[in-house]
Amino acid sequence: MSLKVINGGCYMTYYYFCSHCKSKIGELDKDINSNLLGFNNLTREEKDEMINYLPNGDIIVNSICKNCEEYVTRYALNFDYDTFIQ
Ligand SMILES: [Zn+2]
Repeated sequence: MSLKVINGGCYMTYYYFCSHCKSKIGELDKDINSNLLGFNNLTREEKDEMINYLPNGDIIVNSICKNCEEYVTRYALNFDYDTFIQ
């Protein structure tokens, strides 16, 4: 355990990774209330799936990068189109 404690606060780093291609999307190194990131709107299962808490206090957030989002959107459209034909 090596939590970064500054001014009595607990600072965690949020690392955002794409859960599809595993590329790093970005990171936030701020004392943010996780509620501000919208995690509060997620169900417990979604949180467990999306967020991994590391032993050092850092947080891995499984998200989706722009490339994969485009791909998934395109794939979803094609899928709907195939379904429509049938
Ligand atoms: Zn990706």
